[in-house]
Amino acid sequence: MRTRTAPLRVAIVGSGPSGLYAAVDLLKRDASARVEMFDRLPTLGGLVRSGVSPDHAARRQVCATYERIALSSGRFRFHGNVEIGHHLTHVELLAHHHAVIYASGAASGRRLDIPGEALPGSHAATEFVGWYNGHPDFSQRCFDLSCERAVVIGNGNVAIDVARMLLLPAETLQMTDIADHALAALRQCAVREVIILGRRGVAQTAFTSPELLELERLHDVDIVVDYGTAYQPIEAGDSLRVRLIDEYARRGVLGRGKRLVLRFLASPVEILGSDRVEGVRIVRNSLVRSPDGTPRAQASTQFETIPAGLVLRSVGYRALPVSGLPFDESAGVLPNRFGRVINPATLQPLSGVYVAGWLKRGPSGVIGTNKQCSQETVKQLLEDASAGLLPVPSPAIVDALDTLLIARQPNLVDYGGWRRIDRQERSIGAVQGRPRVKLSSHEALLLAAR
Ligand code: NAP
Repeated sequence: MRTRTAPLRVAIVGSGPSGLYAAVDLLKRDASARVEMFDRLPTLGGLVRSGVSPDHAARRQVCATYERIALSSGRFRFHGNVEIGHHLTHVELLAHHHAVIYASGAASGRRLDIPGEALPGSHAATEFVGWYNGHPDFSQRCFDLSCERAVVIGNGNVAIDVARMLLLPAETLQMTDIADHALAALRQCAVREVIILGRRGVAQTAFTSPELLELERLHDVDIVVDYGTAYQPIEAGDSLRVRLIDEYARRGVLGRGKRLVLRFLASPVEILGSDRVEGVRIVRNSLVRSPDGTPRAQASTQFETIPAGLVLRSVGYRALPVSGLPFDESAGVLPNRFGRVINPATLQPLSGVYVAGWLKRGPSGVIGTNKQCSQETVKQLLEDASAGLLPVPSPAIVDALDTLLIARQPNLVDYGGWRRIDRQERSIGAVQGRPRVKLSSHEALLLAAR
């Protein structure tokens, strides 16, 4: 370590909201800093591109805005189609920069660990989301939508998103940037009833109010509320969410063609079927207080079977470990203090290594939550830079980065390549009256980038 004289060079791994927020904040606070952003995919945007629902296209705008701000600094570069841990190791990446910020999010879905989870017809909701959003890793997946009833397990916003996608009419979907393969499959979708299953009560849901309010837009869908148990003393609560759900409950069944059932206080214990999903066995729960006061679900001895042909497990995202760095398995994050990655044995910071977003704090919050989170990380990084605590790469090594990248990944996609993808998608979309038509295979993306 020595005092830094050359401009600060920071690598950011992951081009989703937390990576972009960190890039812009860093470029703004340090007028000479340079950012090299890496993404495993040829595209920029992370979960904003592949996680936000197609009918929420306006929310994707945030990435385009931040991307333009970063670019206008003249000190930002993008290296797409580069996987850290495969094309470059963490050690190599750090050798070429003063610091690395990992902002690669939470890429996989959590498991339920119940029998039958692996049956055909039972999928992680995260895969379904990736599929309808044209994520190249999921576009070849098949979802059999020929059944009349689907069960979605979990009471978070992703559960609402996937239920809405199953129930929205094709005329609405075809105006969005939904992947073409998903639009074709959803046009043929036979699902008439979606049951969203919550293990706890209505007051404990992780839904947010705008998402609940939006269910109003499902004009041909009855919303049915099944509270589970008649009297729940610790169920009480007067949040907007609880009131909205109560309003749906009081409205009752209006005889519309489809149904969305919000069912509470029930846990799946087994996914049933011989060679594919035929139903879900559930147990009814009551709420009891944990020693720390949190209401938790307690299983009864009352079981029930819900016949269904599709199960989407929507019980949260989970981050994957980063090769060469410590990982906190129980929290699913890089162990860190305010964004400084630490050695869990000594609790000392790892020099030059930082984390932001879901990989730092777990998969929680809406897009904007990442702004403050990334700013906190950048603050630690700049304090360490001022204190002379960052490793200093030799100028010769810095200059060698591009040569190394091309040698390791001949199909590197730079910012110009991403813009060519973006333009092509938008221009095909414009012809069809849609925001964009996504290219959803690696081959098509690379072809457009070239
Ligand atoms: P989430 O909000 O963490 O919700 C996960 C749900 O799964 C909770 O209801 C949880 O119940 C339940 N669950 C966990 N383990 C379970 C089990 N073994 N059995 C039954 N249920 C179980 O996760 P998410 O829906 O994936 O969303 C992730 C983040 O993205 C959230 O912050 C969300 O708000 C955000 N997001 C936002 C939007 C939007 O703004 N429109 C859209 C999508 C996602 P317990 O509470 O009982 O643990």
